[in-house]
Parts: sequence; C-alpha cells; structure tokens
Amino acid sequence: MSRIAYVNGLYVPHAEASVHVEDRGFQFADGVYEVCEVRRGLIVDLTRHLDRLDRSLRELRMVAPMARGPLTFVIREVLRRNRVREGIFYLQVTRGAARRDHFFPAADTVPTLVVTAKSTDPAIMAKKYANGIKVITLAENRWDRVDIKSVGLLPNVLAKQQARDAGAQDAIYIDSTGMVLEGASSNVWIVAADGTLVTRPAEHGILRGITRTTLLDVAKRIGVTSVERDFTTEELLTAREVFFTSATGSCVPIVEVDGRTIANGHPGTISAALRDAFFEIAEKTPI
Ligand code: PMP
Repeated sequence: MSRIAYVNGLYVPHAEASVHVEDRGFQFADGVYEVCEVRRGLIVDLTRHLDRLDRSLRELRMVAPMARGPLTFVIREVLRRNRVREGIFYLQVTRGAARRDHFFPAADTVPTLVVTAKSTDPAIMAKKYANGIKVITLAENRWDRVDIKSVGLLPNVLAKQQARDAGAQDAIYIDSTGMVLEGASSNVWIVAADGTLVTRPAEHGILRGITRTTLLDVAKRIGVTSVERDFTTEELLTAREVFFTSATGSCVPIVEVDGRTIANGHPGTISAALRDAFFEIAEKTPI
C-alpha cells in the first residue's frame, strides 16, 4: 500500500508530496511542528499536542492553517489512509510560500500545512526498553527559544550525529553551569538517590514535552514522588535511573552517559512502571 501525505488541501501520494521552493519552512526554517504517537489505533495526547501547536504558532506570530476541528479531521484522515495502528503522525505548519525576504510576508500569505503518518515497528522500541541506550553530553548551543517547537533543528541534527559517531544513540544538552537541560529530541529524567523522580522545570531552557507533562500525571497516579527542579551532570551520572521521554519513544532507559555506566547498567524498574502505566492514563482519541 502506498503512503499518502496531506499538503495544502490535497491528499497526495507520499512520493510526490512537495511544497514550493520558496516555502519559508524550506528557506528559513520558518515553521513549527508536532509529532504524536498512535498506539492500538488511538492518538495519544492529541489535545495537549494541539494546544502546544497553538502556543508555538502564537509565539512566532504565525497564523493557524485551519481551526482545530478540521485539523483533527485531516490528521485522522491521513492516519486512516495510511492504515496506521502503531506509529506516528507528523504535522508541520510554515509561514507559507512567498518571494524570499526575511521580513514576514504579506498578511494574506496562506500558511503551509503538511501532515504525514507512518507505521512503526513496536519490536524496535521494545529492544530499546529492554537494553537501554547510550548517550553523550554536550554543551548547549541552541537559541534561547527552545520552548517553541520550531523546525529549526540543525543543532539537534548535529548533536545526534555526534552521538552516533561516538558510538552512542543520543545526546543530552548541558547548560554553561553544568545543569542538565534535555535530550536532542526528548526530555531527561533521573531517579535520584532517595528514589524521587526528578525532571527540570520547563519554564525555560527546554521544550515542555507532552510526554513529560503526562508522565508527571502518571507518577502521581502510581504513587511515585516527583519534583521539577534543576539537576547537575554529577547527579545524572550517579542517578539510580536515567531515562528520556518523547512522543516517539515513550520512556527510554539510558544505561550509559559519556562512557560511564548508570547504576548497574540495566534499565530501572521505575521507568518501566511509568512506561507501563502511561498509555492507560494518557488521553486517547480514536482514529
Ligand atoms: N525536547 C526536544 C528538543 C524534542 O525535540 C522533543 C520531541 N519533540 C521533546 C523534548 C519531547 O517532547 P514530546 O514529549 O512532546 O515528544
């Protein structure tokens, strides 16, 4: 079955889906995006993802391509047409196509909307949950508006590749004072020595991950004490557990940081318990 993408009002074969060469997403990374998990034919945390999309658009003074009702229809239609039961949808909005000029284009420029979807193999994630992953740390080198889910991801691309080149799978940003920020495409958590779940506050310096927000609910529901506070690289290295959260990965255990083994080198029980309870507690929208 061939894949279908939605581009500016049309459902088109994925291989032929395209935007204009002067689309501002292509020219300036002048756009925002969302990625949402689909599990057992249900969209996970759709409302929170669309709320964050609205916020990203507002922060960049961009116009929403359509109201939430029609947008939800398009998302579900793309998922249906691609027969996704386990997978993701990807949604991107840009400031539209206009003659190349840094200034905002004319107010009547139509925003570009692209929605794609793909199935994923649960076995690949299961392997990560069973084995954990290795990461590297690196100095923060992004702009200071990482709270906006912008498509400008060049530093993240370089960080991920640097991790791969070092024999690891991912990277964690550290700020200039040695505090842990977030992953190149995920939020970071530790289980501290006293068993408390710790993640950095999302007021500045990181993206407020939707999985992060829901995981705080999950922790409360299953009786795991959590706190939002800054934590140091040293705390990261000596934690009982370290893990990532993201819509594409749920909770991914981290067993090695910069070549140093975390705890006993095996995924921990708290991240597994949180992951197991997550789907039950998250909002689920039928396709
Ligand atoms: N931080 C960054 C930099 C990310 O790219 C992502 C993934 N979109 C996250 C955190 C996690 O966010 P979410 O849980 O909404 O996927």
